[in-house]
Amino acid sequence: MGQEIENMRIHFYGVQGSGSIFPSKEERAAARLQSDLQLLEQVFKRLQDEHSEDGQLKGSIRDVLGGEPERNSLTKFREQLELVEPRVYGGWTTCFRIETADDYDIVIDCGSGFRICAEDIMQKWGEKEERHLYIFGSHAHFDHTEGFDQAAICFDPRNHIHILANHQYLQALDQNLGIFSHHIDMEVGGIQTPLHYELMPANFDSTEIRDLERYPASAEDDPMVGTFHHINEPIVLGDTTIQPFEVFHPDPCLGFRIEHNGKVFVYCTDHELRKGDDEDHPLQIASREAEQRVIEHATDADVLYRDGQFLEIEYHGHQGINSPIGVSRKDWGHSCIEDVVAMAERCRVKQTYIGHHDPNRTWSERNWIDETLVRRSEQSGRLFEMAKAETVIDL
Ligand SMILES: [Zn+2]
Ligand SMILES: [Zn+2]
Repeated sequence: MGQEIENMRIHFYGVQGSGSIFPSKEERAAARLQSDLQLLEQVFKRLQDEHSEDGQLKGSIRDVLGGEPERNSLTKFREQLELVEPRVYGGWTTCFRIETADDYDIVIDCGSGFRICAEDIMQKWGEKEERHLYIFGSHAHFDHTEGFDQAAICFDPRNHIHILANHQYLQALDQNLGIFSHHIDMEVGGIQTPLHYELMPANFDSTEIRDLERYPASAEDDPMVGTFHHINEPIVLGDTTIQPFEVFHPDPCLGFRIEHNGKVFVYCTDHELRKGDDEDHPLQIASREAEQRVIEHATDADVLYRDGQFLEIEYHGHQGINSPIGVSRKDWGHSCIEDVVAMAERCRVKQTYIGHHDPNRTWSERNWIDETLVRRSEQSGRLFEMAKAETVIDL
């Protein structure tokens, strides 16, 4: 997209939960069949239009095609047809990018989608002198950090990479790579990746987002932390404010409300609205309180990205996901699609993208859920969609 950014441009690079997935042989064959049938249908419709009443073709095939049947004329002919691209739901694990009108580059989470995301940022930067990337991390789980050391942006000494996240996220990067402390624990080094800070010449610095009222920072804190930021205070980058908030997940996890010039994007990955029987269970209480924070931050948002990994029937284990055996998903840290839709409607969110797709969910099932969401959108006048990689939203 070449046009000017009005406020924020949001790119979805990875929306897949838990691990990267790509369509199976059968799913590719099904998509191909769908495309082929669509193409044949359109071609024969065109030929029918070229028929006279007695069923004869008015001109030659060459007339219909506008030339001999070779690459150029076939390409031109195809361009005139109304073909719909097959929908893509899977792909890389979590990574989002935000470009702002005042030229800040922001990334949220470094799942495997970060590799391509970073390529695009480097391409945009070209020979630019001011090379600053702000990365916000939600939590330390592998599917939100795995793409970090695969990104070309970490290997150019001109680049400044500022990472703002909770303690666990910073620690996950530092333990494996030593990018902040310039030290690697011998027990951990080399196990997950052959790379480390000496091989990664970009400039890295860290800001720990923490509840400083409950857990004040002290001098004895980890040497990996550059600065601390109180969770209740917004982080200001030019005209953009980023407000972190705690969600509910087995590993401490942050959501972010990003606002630019009155436009609001809320990012809420890996959050569970827990569905237990005991309302007084400590986890049930913590989940309810976190859900309340999500509601507060998402109310009247323009765009919400939220984890909806399961259908309710799957969460309770009454039905398996691409498996005949249902397993309870309680305390796995993810929410139900039905709850996300209900919450977004109550909060008057304009566009809701439901992601962190379960890796076991088949393409056809994703399609089926997406079509159900499209019907819901038509009824409610608000947009609901299964999040798809390569989506770009201008706000
Ligand atoms: Zn995740
Ligand atoms: Zn997680």
